[in-house]
Amino acid sequence: MQFDSETDYCIVGAGAAGCVVADRLSESGRDRVLVLEAGPSDWHPFIHIPATFLQLVRDPRFSWYFQMEPERELKGRAQRAPQGKVLGGGSSINGMAFMRGQASEYDEWADKGCSGWGYNDVLPYFKKIERYVGGDDHYRGRSGPMSVTGANEVHLLTRSFVAAGIELGFPANADFNGSARDGIGVIQNNRRGRFRSGAAQTYLARARKRANVQIETHALGRRILFEGKRAIGVEFSRGGQVKRVRARREVILSCGSIKSPHLLQLSGVGPAETLAAAGIPVLHELPGVGRDLRDHLFVRIAHRVRGTQSMNERTRGFRLLYELAKYAVSGSGIMANATTSGALFCRSRPELAFPDVYVAFTPGSYAQQLQLEREPGMAISVIQSHPESVGTIRARTANPEDQPAIQPNYLSAALDRQTVVAGLRVARRLFAAPALARWSAHETKPGPSAQTDEDLLEFARSAGTPGLHFSTSCRMGTDANAVVTPDLKVRGLEGLRVIDASVMPGCSSGNTHAPVLMIGEKGSAMMIEDRGKPA
Ligand SMILES: Cc1cc2nc3c(=O)[nH]c(=O)nc-3n(C[C@H](O)[C@H](O)[C@H](O)COP(=O)(O)OP(=O)(O)OC[C@H]3O[C@@H](n4cnc5c(N)ncnc54)[C@H](O)[C@@H]3O)c2cc1C
Repeated sequence: MQFDSETDYCIVGAGAAGCVVADRLSESGRDRVLVLEAGPSDWHPFIHIPATFLQLVRDPRFSWYFQMEPERELKGRAQRAPQGKVLGGGSSINGMAFMRGQASEYDEWADKGCSGWGYNDVLPYFKKIERYVGGDDHYRGRSGPMSVTGANEVHLLTRSFVAAGIELGFPANADFNGSARDGIGVIQNNRRGRFRSGAAQTYLARARKRANVQIETHALGRRILFEGKRAIGVEFSRGGQVKRVRARREVILSCGSIKSPHLLQLSGVGPAETLAAAGIPVLHELPGVGRDLRDHLFVRIAHRVRGTQSMNERTRGFRLLYELAKYAVSGSGIMANATTSGALFCRSRPELAFPDVYVAFTPGSYAQQLQLEREPGMAISVIQSHPESVGTIRARTANPEDQPAIQPNYLSAALDRQTVVAGLRVARRLFAAPALARWSAHETKPGPSAQTDEDLLEFARSAGTPGLHFSTSCRMGTDANAVVTPDLKVRGLEGLRVIDASVMPGCSSGNTHAPVLMIGEKGSAMMIEDRGKPA
């Protein structure tokens, strides 16, 4: 096979995980690291200003903006899935909510056969990511590359949401990334002063200064190249040309939960029937590739706001000009903050050992997916923390430019339907508590006519939107449907690992960015350890 260039490690995808891996693998200076990223560099100012990411999620220059399949349990609705297509991936266009998973779920990962991924194993890697002031030293990191901080300015409505929870008897939680997950409080962000502190602006920014790191933007990985069952390189396209790079040590897929399984399938690694239907010759049959996809469904109850200003009006017209001036002068105000700012973790049933409902508060409301309404509003999103509904990613054709079929099967599991209804009732109680009720004119979604459990489920089916926390489509494990082993190597192949959200054994509770960075840190540490072993 002819190659155009050579490297030691080739990382495909410079998203949240890919940036961490690029940095850690290049740190020693021993090896050459090539990073291929389909999108551009993170030049756009809206990436860096916390409140403006919403402007980029539909922009095809920075977002894949995938078209998903019609969802049976969501009344046949076929929705869009924005995913970062830029250095940093989702880490450059996400809502910056910085939330680890809860301790118990990592112990569950280990119990399911992912040895080395229990909470005590992963905690040091969570600490390694962050630079956080406050909290308990046992849980929090002080000197990592990523600045994590509380809200720059806690919106009056968010403070009222927290007060409402306390009125209802929920415990206050000052640090969701600390010892306990239960309770109500303010969400932390990966932010440095007035700017986003994402994986590209931290890990990749320092990696790219090293002589042994090469980053190719606008470079689409087309397929992995094999010699027998060993990955030896990557074929990619850039500027209309197709090139081949040889990877002397390993190829690492960090394309995220939609594109990593897709790229494996394009390379002939996956379920035989999927590959046959797409016209792709089978190199290595692996039935789990693209199976077990999970995502959080967000179902939002919204209220019209009176008596104060919400995000909706503060980000329009003259008020926006005022906010921009405030941001420019002092780095404060609505532009310096992410959208979702309050959270409650609670149980849908008292007998549960751990919270299964995540309730997230936004001092604004949406007209449609991630587009703020014009009128004043506030919203509570209800999320089943550990969705049991599983879906698929399937290549439709052998053409790397074509997008795969994305089918999460939201609400297909009975437990998810029950939990979302229970969560919507919690959200209603929060809106009715005096501290929050004083700012409400009336409920706009679903509206007062929705009262029974059936009504609420009907609302979830017609209004639920993708949480964009895709995971588990190249699941780690030791069973027949696992795609990677606990050291993130693709089962049955050599020289190939997957390191990104797709390897999670289940959807992480809360948000997924921090857990993905942890996977990047731990995956890199395992590779560096292997590198040190004699061949
Ligand atoms: C709009 C939005 C808001 C979100 N908000 C939050 C939040 O507030 N908090 C939170 O914790 N999480 C949030 N998330 C989720 C979080 O960002 C993701 O879980 C995380 O980014 C996943 O990391 P990853 O490394 O698996 O993949 P990604 O970050 O998606 O990175 C994958 C990268 O690979 C590149 N790529 C894909 N295919 C190829 C190919 N064939 N060749 C070359 N490059 C390729 C992509 O362009 C991308 O840059 C949000 C996500 C979105 C989209």
